[in-house]
Amino acid sequence: MEAVYISEIQRFCVHDGPGIRTTVFFQDCPLRCRWCQNPETLSPHPLLLFSADLCAGCGACVGACPHGAISMGADGIARTDPSRCTQCGACCEPCYFLARKLSAHTYTVDQLFQAVMRDEVVFRNSGGGVTVSGGEPLLHPGFCEELLGRCKNAGVTTAVETAGCVPQQAIDRLIPVVDTFLFDLKLFHLHPHKEWTGVDNGLILSNLRRVANLHDNVVIRIPLIPGVNDTEYEFSAMMDFAAGLRHINGVHILPFHQLGAGKYKLIDVKYTLADLSEDNDEGVARCEGIAKAHGFRVDVGGTGFLSDRH
Ligand code: SF4
Ligand code: SF4
Repeated sequence: MEAVYISEIQRFCVHDGPGIRTTVFFQDCPLRCRWCQNPETLSPHPLLLFSADLCAGCGACVGACPHGAISMGADGIARTDPSRCTQCGACCEPCYFLARKLSAHTYTVDQLFQAVMRDEVVFRNSGGGVTVSGGEPLLHPGFCEELLGRCKNAGVTTAVETAGCVPQQAIDRLIPVVDTFLFDLKLFHLHPHKEWTGVDNGLILSNLRRVANLHDNVVIRIPLIPGVNDTEYEFSAMMDFAAGLRHINGVHILPFHQLGAGKYKLIDVKYTLADLSEDNDEGVARCEGIAKAHGFRVDVGGTGFLSDRH
């Protein structure tokens, strides 16, 4: 089994499935949602993260770069020339101030299983377990199948958070080893979906239909983006589609937030939604009402009804 790039192992999570969980964030995603709050996970390979606030101006990174990409600015802060940087990571180790690091590191299944099972006591005491998220974990179905299968064999509950833009076989392989599917839905209509996420949604909708047919614990999660998918027109279309599916255990509405906005600076990428307000009580209330009118249990925030099946 090949090693994969893991961006983060986050412990004590309460939003990613039942109980207290350890969530594993995979690097790489086929979508390019303009509101993404984990932009460092989008690329197939690790990216250099640079925190200017931590740079002490020691200059140790300058000579460490094999491509001559780093120079000291007049303000005493190291600058990286993006046209020369290959994201190789050679400048990270010499930086004692942790101003430079890579967004992901490789793990084998064995290494990752050992890392998550350090929290076994927490899982047992809380009914929690392991969630794979990202990025898109199902770009590595064999790896996830083996990791989550080993968790289940050890009596640990498993969950997947997916955007669903993966071959159908990936979904099919995971069904036997997953207790909870957290399936992201962004938009129903094709053209806005492509405009805001960069991809068509035909495969996503077809995979959601399939998993809802074959698995009995599927929660739809909708990141609610003001003016994008919180309109009556768009949200009702998503709920109409969801109401025609078989096993949907409820709908999570995830209000828009800007918690990841600073990450765009770390990877030196412009964030186009930096000025979008988080204040959207009206949109959240409207969409909650629409989902309830379609007969769904609704949780705003993403923690509800994860332990009980419908
Ligand atoms: S090694 Fe780190 S602290 Fe020193 S100049 Fe480079 S980025 Fe700044
Ligand atoms: S990641 Fe590699 S190429 Fe980029 S600045 Fe650091 S050492 Fe140079």
